[in-house]
Amino acid sequence: MDKLHELANLIFPDVHDTIADLEKRYPPRTLPEGAMVTRFAPSPTGFLHTGSLFASLISKRLAAQSNGVFFVRLEDTDTKREITGTGDQVLRELATFGVDPDEDFVKGGPYAPYIQSERKPLYDATIKHLVEQGKSYPCFCTHEELDRMRETQEARKVNPGYWGEYAVCRNIKPEDAIARIRAGHPYVMRFKSPGTHDGKVVVNDLIRGTLELTENDQDLVIMKSDGLPTYHFAHLVDDHFMRTTHVTRGEEWLPSLPIHVQLFEAMGWPRLQYAHLPVIMKLDEGKRRKLSKRKDPEAAVSFFLEAGYPIDGFLEYLMTIANTNFEGWRIANPTADKFDFKLTYDHMTLDGALFDLEKVNSISKEILGAMTAEEISAAALAWAKKYRPDIASAIESDPSYFQAIMSIERGGEKPRKDYVKYSDIWPIVDFMYEPAYAAALQAPLPWNETISKAVIRNVLETYASDPFLTLGEEEWFGRLKEVAASCGFAPSAKEYKKNKEAFLGHIGDFAEIIRIAVSGRKNTPNFYRILTILGEARIKARIARTIARL
Ligand code: GLU
Repeated sequence: MDKLHELANLIFPDVHDTIADLEKRYPPRTLPEGAMVTRFAPSPTGFLHTGSLFASLISKRLAAQSNGVFFVRLEDTDTKREITGTGDQVLRELATFGVDPDEDFVKGGPYAPYIQSERKPLYDATIKHLVEQGKSYPCFCTHEELDRMRETQEARKVNPGYWGEYAVCRNIKPEDAIARIRAGHPYVMRFKSPGTHDGKVVVNDLIRGTLELTENDQDLVIMKSDGLPTYHFAHLVDDHFMRTTHVTRGEEWLPSLPIHVQLFEAMGWPRLQYAHLPVIMKLDEGKRRKLSKRKDPEAAVSFFLEAGYPIDGFLEYLMTIANTNFEGWRIANPTADKFDFKLTYDHMTLDGALFDLEKVNSISKEILGAMTAEEISAAALAWAKKYRPDIASAIESDPSYFQAIMSIERGGEKPRKDYVKYSDIWPIVDFMYEPAYAAALQAPLPWNETISKAVIRNVLETYASDPFLTLGEEEWFGRLKEVAASCGFAPSAKEYKKNKEAFLGHIGDFAEIIRIAVSGRKNTPNFYRILTILGEARIKARIARTIARL
């Protein structure tokens, strides 16, 4: 056995699989011609970023529309940064947006496991192969030695890092490495880079076209001292043995592409096709800047879920920023399912991913405005069950009452578009329910100061004696004017202005008194509808409570 094989066996005594064995165990997928195998590879380090949902949606659609496969792999090798539970949360959030994978680390699949910490045997077998080929070696440098090296490099004004002449462990003879490992010296495994720092590598990006990038000349750590692989190396092994064909990810990964390409070449594996999406930007006081995890709540998809944006609208918006021809297609196909549109890499732009919350809002408003009372009630209840159980139980206490409230100014020629998201509904209608109404009664009511309490009492008592709700809206309003007149109020603002002395106020002032009494506020949706939904008994009870507080 040559010394390299001996070294490889010493480092990986339990690894018996060869690359050929793995090729057989994870064979190329049998899929139709042109099918894409795409993936999303989150690290369990926090919330699902809006940019990641965007990339995942694109990956999912590309796979679905080509009869391919979209899978999610959890990249959890950086145990220090891991936040427990976030992997599952990401899957749940993806599913909520309809971006559910065909294979993932919960449901499994033919290329399982889909979680990097469980794939160590594959990484080990691959590194073993590289050691045998002289393309990977153990590095015994201590932190102090690496620090000293960095200082020397700074003093010499050369590129920092483990490269060329500075990659000292590169030159350790296999027999010496064997001796040091036997003596118990700790080590990491590095990849021996064939690159130089003025070398260039030509890569193709599906959005950016052909690019000439600087070659990687660093001997990167591929296996840490804890035996786990680093991201770059794990991704090579996983995407090869999971038979990924297309990687769509954020442009922050573009600088790593030369490393990835080099690793694929070292293994003699075909390169994947890569598309690096532009970072999602937003306009902030007229200037474009990156959507920031720290500053912008909309950077996390949980923001849209908690606020209750209609999922459909949000996906529609993401489709418009994914492909420049989507909006034109939508105009030509106003009622088609958005996923009938075929996404392509050549209609993605490098400056198109401007995240415009105003536009999301206006799409959402249209969607909520076009829903029937039944649809919006059901959707609002589903949202409330997840995020506002208090609202959900109020709705469930009388579903038809809620549906009646939601029917106000809905349908017809010009439906009102008050709501952008489900969370907007409650502040507008909560006075229809006891807790919010009782709370309003506790605070000073917004009476018109120019009208005396005695007049207010008279108006309320008069109206409560007969709210005449069996009349249709127009007749009801006619009658209201008569009652107003009997209490000393002008039937219109115009008449009042002509002769202010003759009246206590006008019909608007009169109606406002009743509105405040039954709702606790000056503004409500359509007054007549509110009254008919509250019904005579509730109106009388609320007016009596208001009078008691005058
Ligand atoms: N795990 C990497 C991340 O957290 C994935 C990068 C890739 O898609 O290749 O973003």
